Amino acid sequence: MYQSFIGLEVHIHLLTKTKVFCGCRSAFGDEPNTNVCPVCLGYPGVLPALNRESMKMSCMVAKALNCTIPEKTWFERKQYFYPDMTKNYQISQFASPLGQRGYLDIEGTWGVKRVRIHECHLEEDAGKMIHTGTVSLLDYNRAGVSLLEIVTEPDMETGEQAEAFIQQLRRLVRYVGVCDGNMEEGSLRADANVSINLPGKGLGKKVEIKNLNSSRFVRLGLNYEIERQAKALDAGKTIVQETRLWNQNRDQTEPMRQKENAQDYRYFPEPDLPVFAPDAAFLKSVEDAIVELPFPRRKRLETEYGVSAEQANLICEERAFADYFESTAAAVVQTSSGVDKKSAAQRIANWLLTDIKHILTREGIALASIGGFKLTVDRFAYLVVMTANGSLSTKNAKQTLELVLSEDRDPADIIREKRFEQITDPVVIAEAVALVEKEEAATFAEAREPAKNQKRQRTLTAFLVGKVLEKTHGRADPRIVKEQIAKLIGG
Ligand code: ADP
Ligand code: ZN
Ligand code: MG
Repeated sequence: MYQSFIGLEVHIHLLTKTKVFCGCRSAFGDEPNTNVCPVCLGYPGVLPALNRESMKMSCMVAKALNCTIPEKTWFERKQYFYPDMTKNYQISQFASPLGQRGYLDIEGTWGVKRVRIHECHLEEDAGKMIHTGTVSLLDYNRAGVSLLEIVTEPDMETGEQAEAFIQQLRRLVRYVGVCDGNMEEGSLRADANVSINLPGKGLGKKVEIKNLNSSRFVRLGLNYEIERQAKALDAGKTIVQETRLWNQNRDQTEPMRQKENAQDYRYFPEPDLPVFAPDAAFLKSVEDAIVELPFPRRKRLETEYGVSAEQANLICEERAFADYFESTAAAVVQTSSGVDKKSAAQRIANWLLTDIKHILTREGIALASIGGFKLTVDRFAYLVVMTANGSLSTKNAKQTLELVLSEDRDPADIIREKRFEQITDPVVIAEAVALVEKEEAATFAEAREPAKNQKRQRTLTAFLVGKVLEKTHGRADPRIVKEQIAKLIGG
């Protein structure tokens, strides 16, 4: 058996309106080469200017990842040639990145594992090459877009852990609101580094798998690579340090190029940008902008609302979804003094994670967009209160929910109009029970026989309750019906 080491380099596009060193629009999917200017096209003689918003968002991520922000941070030029980068260098950070030595705790079947973050650094993205047939096209809209690179220490051991890291980091940057985390559009991309070695021998020869655009490919690529390297070592071969690509059609990694060394980039400080020394006001604005992060929020939901760890995790999948949950709980508690917070929360969680989630999927509404859902917090809270105090049966609540959505109306109106409100008046229920007692005299007689076995008795009771519900069009409160029938048959 070998020990394996995995380190990730994750790139995220920051949601700044403009690019990192010029005023061009920063957006995905615009007409090619429309968001460009002499600065991001690398014309000679132009001067970059740092977008403070890029720096702020980057520092927010750095802080959320428990990194230290140094007193001074600056930019370097990373020299290399590539057609999608017309300056022949990329402005990046090297000697003093804006975030240093942090960590992210990842959870999974292994428990909780701390993955150290080596650094976070801000750089500009390159343009995009599109290869079609015999020509290659270049789109520079992406050139100069704010890119934050997060580099971990080689602390992970399996593809599953790396996948969890990506997923939890994705959730975190979405919470903080600095990246949409869309891996298909390339807003979050990962390079995965992996080596194996005999236990206790330290790091092995590293292989880098480039440009993984889904967390699943990160897992598959790494697990494939760990196995490939183990087989090679078993066969007495040595591992070549190289860059490989994940071929998703063949489910395997394939060689791309031998990796150049860091020195080859000839980093030197960017002479056209001043050193950035974050002052107290800047640091405070960073602190103030950071919201409660997913992990602590999950823990808080568990204790404050008494939901299970699994429920809390699902609720916290998106910030807006968790907000919706908490706002609804608050609204229920506020409007109904009879419902306590934890039982309200349990009802809300059950609705959210079953019916409402199904509906959102059916209607193609993302969890993050629940803020604009027709079932507003107030409407949802009303349904919860009505079911909690027994005024609305679960069945009718579900029907009401569907009507709220299809007609975009308040549940109170619908319940009134459809006469959905549950009958809880014992006198009214007794009338229906009396009718059924007449119609089903034989069943009553059988149910009253003293020697009946319990199972049969239960079946008969259920049948009679069903009859009463039928009589009241499902509106009688089943608990009261059951009580009255039990009394009548002497059960
Ligand atoms: P490079 O100079 O090739 O970019 P770095 O030292 O900057 O390499 O590390 C890049 C990434 O690779 C980091 O995430 C780091 O944790 C990981 N890494 C470095 N060496 C190894 C190794 N031997 N095995 C696995 N991962 C490694
Ligand atoms: Zn520009
Ligand atoms: Mg490096």
